Amino acid sequence: METTMTFEYAPAPESRAIVTIKPKYGHFIGGKFVPGGKHFPTINPATEEVLSQIALGGKADVDAAVKAARKAYANTWSKMSGKERGKYLYRIARIMQERAREFAVLETLDNGKPIRESRDTDIPLAAAHFFYHAGWADKLEYAGLGTSPKPLGVAGQIIPWNFPLLMLAWKVAPALAAGNTVVLKPAESTPLTALLFAEVCQQAELPAGVVNIVTGDGSTGALIVNHPGIDKIAFTGSTEVGKIIARAVAPTNKSVTLELGGKAANIVFDDAPIDETVEGIVNGIFFNQGHVCCAGSRLLLQENVAEEVLHKLKNRMEKIRVGDPMDKNTDVGAINSKEQLAKIIELAAVGDSEGAERWSPACTLPNKGFWFAPTIFTGVTQAHRIAREEIFGPVLSVLTFRTPAEAIEKANNTPFGLSAGIWSEKGSRTLWASQQLRAGVIWANTFNKFDPTSPFGGYKESGWGREGGRHGLSGYLKGVSHE
Ligand code: NDP
Repeated sequence: METTMTFEYAPAPESRAIVTIKPKYGHFIGGKFVPGGKHFPTINPATEEVLSQIALGGKADVDAAVKAARKAYANTWSKMSGKERGKYLYRIARIMQERAREFAVLETLDNGKPIRESRDTDIPLAAAHFFYHAGWADKLEYAGLGTSPKPLGVAGQIIPWNFPLLMLAWKVAPALAAGNTVVLKPAESTPLTALLFAEVCQQAELPAGVVNIVTGDGSTGALIVNHPGIDKIAFTGSTEVGKIIARAVAPTNKSVTLELGGKAANIVFDDAPIDETVEGIVNGIFFNQGHVCCAGSRLLLQENVAEEVLHKLKNRMEKIRVGDPMDKNTDVGAINSKEQLAKIIELAAVGDSEGAERWSPACTLPNKGFWFAPTIFTGVTQAHRIAREEIFGPVLSVLTFRTPAEAIEKANNTPFGLSAGIWSEKGSRTLWASQQLRAGVIWANTFNKFDPTSPFGGYKESGWGREGGRHGLSGYLKGVSHE
């Protein structure tokens, strides 16, 4: 007999008193905050409250940042020993840990993700990336990447809004460890933790110009991509913009790494431990509101267990708590922006019109802010747009299969290849399936696990190169293969 228990939770709001948000921010160039020209608002997507005014970086700002980065590279950072560089990275990592609560609250306010996730995932992982790469700074000769690895120079780094501080850490930590200096642009809708990181650089007494942060929108990103003073572009974001960047750098000497979209298959075989699998499915698609490039957004269920899995999944989803991201009980927070919400609504409507069946648990969504209830679509076929396109929201498309070979065929039938999941109790089946899947990261009996030591990146339209681990370091060193 199935028993369900429901707990009543009293609200457990995290205080925002620990953060001081300035009414207006400039750019961080050459170790100092410098005033911007035009400004745009950054808002809390859970309430639509304007949090601050952010500088819109233009040509002069990008020029100044590249100049500062070049000077720091030539005069200081490239001349410093790896051991000394490592000390700065350790110092940054420790300060991030000390100020973790401040970072977590700020991230949740600006992004809309639950405080539990920013506190327990984003910020600890960001610090871990700095600790890990601090360890590499004086050991690059032993990384198997050549006997005397050399940095590339100035790296231009453009990051998205789904994991703002974590994506900054994925970019800045390896670049600095390898001896490069950086010009980084955070996403338009989530710049605040990058600006707090700039304060951490000051606190760590990082030499001026080693890290420069220019805020702005896509036009600022394009200025960085096209700047002749930049040696390497590292980008995370949509495949569409990734293609624009690939075209822009193709005729130049710039190195490039691209971490783009995905439409991961999460495959459940009939011997999978069903209860654990249901937890994994929920974590795979509803973590971070589904704003995850490697989200398990295509669930492939073996037909003979499909009914049982769906029944248990719907039961589990009835207990997901959607609402105030600052409440420590919240599982699913706000959608990051009005534009992203519109995209999710549009693609879900396409699912309806193409004949898939929509289901969401009963949940009351707040009146203000941007919200979308966790949703599953059943009866999805390979031809449906919701099976092919990245929705980047809390929406799961469910397909079925009869044989393992059919599962692999369907899983690989996508222009993407970032990640995949396998649920099975049989080691031999897991190994067989993981060898057939064309995806950069494959999880077995788990999902959305990240570690700085493990390379992350895609096949096909999911990107070029790897981030994290020894492989990620190679993207910031001269003459080393990027695959
Ligand atoms: P984008 O790819 O547009 O944004 C990623 C970053 O690139 C942002 O910092 C953005 O700036 C910047 N950018 C935008 N245009 C250019 C350009 N021409 N040259 C250089 N930099 C540029 O993603 P969006 O935020 O617009 O999201 C659109 C869709 O992309 C989502 O719905 C989702 O499907 C997907 N996405 C995938 C991500 C992933 O990790 N794979 C992450 C984010 C989005 P700004 O934000 O200021 O516009």
